[in-house]
Amino acid sequence: MNIEAFYTISYGLFIVSSAADGKKNGYIANTVFQVTATPPQFAICCNKDNHTAGMIKKSGTFSVSVLEKDVPTGIMGLFGFKSGNTVNKFESVTHINTPNGTPVVTESSVAWFECRVSQVIDAGTHLMFIGEILDAELLDKNKEPLTYAYYREAKRGIAPKNAPTYIDKDALEKKSKPTIKKFKCPVCGYIYDPAIGDPDGGIPAGTAFKDIPDDWQCPICGVNKNEFVEVDN
Ligand code: FE
Repeated sequence: MNIEAFYTISYGLFIVSSAADGKKNGYIANTVFQVTATPPQFAICCNKDNHTAGMIKKSGTFSVSVLEKDVPTGIMGLFGFKSGNTVNKFESVTHINTPNGTPVVTESSVAWFECRVSQVIDAGTHLMFIGEILDAELLDKNKEPLTYAYYREAKRGIAPKNAPTYIDKDALEKKSKPTIKKFKCPVCGYIYDPAIGDPDGGIPAGTAFKDIPDDWQCPICGVNKNEFVEVDN
């Protein structure tokens, strides 16, 4: 099996939210898709260990926020890498509550949908929820939705060879041999590579990890610099 074949499947990135027992939670999902047109229904897949899965089962409703291309990494970190068991994710994010009591993240989103669960399919590690769409809103027609491919490439600072932001890693590595030590984020697994730097975070390529300002954080999940661990090259 060639794992790289999996990377050719296109996905978007979304926040799926729900509420139960007076608590709200949400998580970052790439598996959201329309399954029928009449009635309009979406399917989502949610890990059984995910805090939100229990809320969806209990309340029978969930919302889907379509993230915008320029979503700040802080939101990705909060909803993608932190557990609702320990953090109230809705405390610091702009959202609304539908008349059915479903929380909907509106911050950094281009559109949202609210669904009522019509079927739950046990898919092993995950539950697939099929839900009829109760309501939908377009928040900003001028903003582009985020795709998983864009997130993988651009947000990690790795650009295709023909992109204007492409960095010749091999050439840079040769130039900066004494500073090529890489460091790994213990939470999300992001690897800081000095040959690439963190251009989105203002760290130019060729910057050694020790020379990054102390208040720099993981561009994916927001973990502090001092928690990073050195990795063998
Ligand atoms: Fe991280």
